[in-house]
Amino acid sequence: MNSKIYLSSPHMGSSELSYIQEAFDTNWIAPIGPHVDGFEDNLAIYLSDEVHVGALSSGTAAIHLALVLLGVVQGDEVLVQTHTHIASANPILYLGATPVFIDSEIDTWNLCPIALEEAIVDRIAKGATPKAIIAVHLYGVPYKIDEVRTVADKYGIPILEDSAEALGSSYKGQKCGTFGDIGVLSFNGNKIITTSGGGAIVTKTAMQKDRAVFFATQSRDAAPHYQHSEIGYNYRMSNICAGIGRGQMEVLDDHVALRRKMHAFYVDLFKDIAAVTVFEAPNDDYFANYWLSAITIDAQLTNGVDRETLRLTFEAANIESRPLWKPMHLQPIFSMYPYYGKKVAETLFEDGLCLPSGSNLTDAERERIAAVVRGFFVE
Ligand SMILES: *Cc1c(COP(=O)(O)O)cnc(C)c1O
Repeated sequence: MNSKIYLSSPHMGSSELSYIQEAFDTNWIAPIGPHVDGFEDNLAIYLSDEVHVGALSSGTAAIHLALVLLGVVQGDEVLVQTHTHIASANPILYLGATPVFIDSEIDTWNLCPIALEEAIVDRIAKGATPKAIIAVHLYGVPYKIDEVRTVADKYGIPILEDSAEALGSSYKGQKCGTFGDIGVLSFNGNKIITTSGGGAIVTKTAMQKDRAVFFATQSRDAAPHYQHSEIGYNYRMSNICAGIGRGQMEVLDDHVALRRKMHAFYVDLFKDIAAVTVFEAPNDDYFANYWLSAITIDAQLTNGVDRETLRLTFEAANIESRPLWKPMHLQPIFSMYPYYGKKVAETLFEDGLCLPSGSNLTDAERERIAAVVRGFFVE
């Protein structure tokens, strides 16, 4: 059996181990230390000189603290893209708030500005202005930044930008992670760079970052003893993980280029297969890191052959592929919450498939993928 080809696996550069060694040599084996500071600086410099970055234990933790910073409390409503990873929505429940799910639009597969405004108008009519909008750059393709911002500002609702999948993407030359009132990154094992597990919060002021770090370290008040007046969390990043992150920052731009090369490979592979559309950013304003390359299959053009048949064919060849995110409003845990939109996200879930996209795939592995595709779509 050929070795398994994964959707997206960790890809180390050449200096991660020396950063870890340095942490051991200096005994900074703790959720604090020079690598944490250094990684935060690397990220802030990479993103923009207008932001501040706090390194945390996960992207989920970052979303949780971002909601806390935006003042979300029990009983509030939070608008969130339905087509996403569950970590975009779970922290709303951690706070006892109510998620309100919004459909995608077809150009970016992200938050539909029209459904978003319909939802806001209806929620206000029903009695409460939503507290925040969680917008996601799925698969590294930026959401409709200008349109979503226009709606958010019209109703005075802050944007939590879930950029977990979009480090290295940009819109009109500005880096993803810097568009929200607060931004969030993830360095989970499958992301474009990884610290094994980790995340970050991106804020506009140093004060907000300090607040986030305060919450992330048990909300400890200034006192010689342990004194607490607010709810706290244990969400800081380990100095070891941050060391991996510093090494990964050295290869981030290479990873972006290699993921984009994988995407170009799929565009070429499927160019003569009418039933398949490779997901692409809508125009040159959008620069996608293509964290994952994804396709949709029009089963009407394939005599009923659908993405599940293709997925199983890949699986038989020991190649991982995966349906697009199942919409949150269809998840059993969220079935009782409001939903606004049509069936864009549902249709994407039915027809869409993510394909192996790692920056570490070899020519031989690309050839194995191509052979499955050519065998599958023989006329
Ligand atoms: C991965 C991911 C997260 C969560 O990040 P973790 O670091 O795994 O907690 C949040 N949102 C999206 C869209 C993601 O893909």
